Amino acid sequence: MKTNNHVVRPFLIGSEWVTGGGQPFNCTNPATGQINAVFGTADEKDVARAVQTAKAAQACPSWRQLFSHQRASILYRLASLVEDKKEFLADLQMKENGKLYKECLGQAKEAAATYRYFAGICETIPGELAPTRGDHLSLVTYEPYGVVAIITPWNSPLVLEAQKVGAALAAGNAVVLKPSEFTPESALQLAEIALKAGLPPGILNVLTGGGETGAALVRHPDVRMISFTGGTATGKRIAREAANRLAAVALELGGKSPHIVFADADLDLALSEVLNGVFSSSGQSCIAGTRLFVERSIYEDFVGALVQLSAALRVGPPDDPTSQFAPLSSFTHRDKVESMVQMAIEDGATVLLGGARPDAQHLSNGAYYLPTILAGMDNNSRICQQEVFGPVLCVLPFESEEALIELANDNVLGLGCGVWTKDFPKAYRIAKAIEAGTVWINTYKRLSVSAPFGGFKESGIGREKGFLGIRTYQETKTIIIGI
Ligand code: NAD
Repeated sequence: MKTNNHVVRPFLIGSEWVTGGGQPFNCTNPATGQINAVFGTADEKDVARAVQTAKAAQACPSWRQLFSHQRASILYRLASLVEDKKEFLADLQMKENGKLYKECLGQAKEAAATYRYFAGICETIPGELAPTRGDHLSLVTYEPYGVVAIITPWNSPLVLEAQKVGAALAAGNAVVLKPSEFTPESALQLAEIALKAGLPPGILNVLTGGGETGAALVRHPDVRMISFTGGTATGKRIAREAANRLAAVALELGGKSPHIVFADADLDLALSEVLNGVFSSSGQSCIAGTRLFVERSIYEDFVGALVQLSAALRVGPPDDPTSQFAPLSSFTHRDKVESMVQMAIEDGATVLLGGARPDAQHLSNGAYYLPTILAGMDNNSRICQQEVFGPVLCVLPFESEEALIELANDNVLGLGCGVWTKDFPKAYRIAKAIEAGTVWINTYKRLSVSAPFGGFKESGIGREKGFLGIRTYQETKTIIIGI
């Protein structure tokens, strides 16, 4: 099938590549405005077929009765194949979401490491025996849900898909993966790699399409668990739909993370990490530290230095190794970021830096937007309360530890938080008081597949990654044996 001279890229159901019953869609390189490819859209019938295929494959002895070390060996092979193709995968992701190539390469390597990690857990995680309270043995066992729907966003598809698919397969499920309509190619590559690695057909199916495809998947009665990463509004819609039949959900949603700098911190280090914490990935990171709270006594100096450093970031194409700041992921997204900055200005914010597209002629075809720093607004203003998911930092002074904690927690989101101080008891007090899934002390945005990740409040439900990340994708069953 061809649309506008592009062959429609098919998606995978079982071992069959199909273009789907929906209207094909374009995928555009945000750095150039050129169409990368045209992808098929899975309609309701394709979704039903993928779920039935996954259900049948999951029930097959060739998957269900596979010993865990055999499942692990498939995941190890998958990890090696991802590692072998890391440059190719990084290049694809860069062309779809506009991230710097070096970041994409790091994420491709991390994806391989993630499959390897879940392979390791898969064959080593021990079973449990509950303490005896009578003449019986209570075995605690863990079983796959069956068919798991995985729905992902565009900002880091390689790693986000690895941390979900790796864990769900290690847990013994079959998966129907619906990647973002902005970044579908990495998931299709993963499907090809998984078949090469020896995963039985039907255990990993990939459907491309937009929100309607995702919604049809969530509605399907044979999907027993939904693992979603994306915006809070979509996450709530999915949770409401899942509630109709009490399907399990794991939701990794938005963030508006406070980044806190006390006067007694290592200020040079804090400065570079605050900058990296908000402007790496052009601010399109769920854990971006987008609300900067600086102790009043150092506020003017620290913010002045931050503005200077941020202004020096080299904005440029993602494939140029000297670029430090790439375009946003799409033209639509840039429009949204622009309108939110406009909203902040109308609410009384002052633009200390950016607030515009770059002038450079060679960037005019891309979805570029400059690193932006805003000041002079209240923590309860819309720009401080709502996620922008772009390169927009709100800076606010604070007077006391008590007032700071109140300000930092005054948001419906609770994903991450950073604290900079040499006073460790103070840092620890704050870490305990902050309502967030991850708190960094004297560092920021360091992540590891071995540490659980997730959000408090409207930033999500459940945890991914870490040793017990596999349990997110399993039901617990107790078997009691009389003796
Ligand atoms: P989004 O919610 O618009 O879309 C995410 C995915 O959901 C896409 O695949 C989309 O097609 C699908 N979708 C849309 N409507 C749907 C529906 N009704 N039912 C089922 N699926 C549907 O989010 P986005 O713009 O792609 O991603 C940005 C968001 O992701 C930000 O809010 C960001 O904070 C969040 N995010 C969170 C984490 C985390 O770990 N907490 C990580 C990365 C991104």
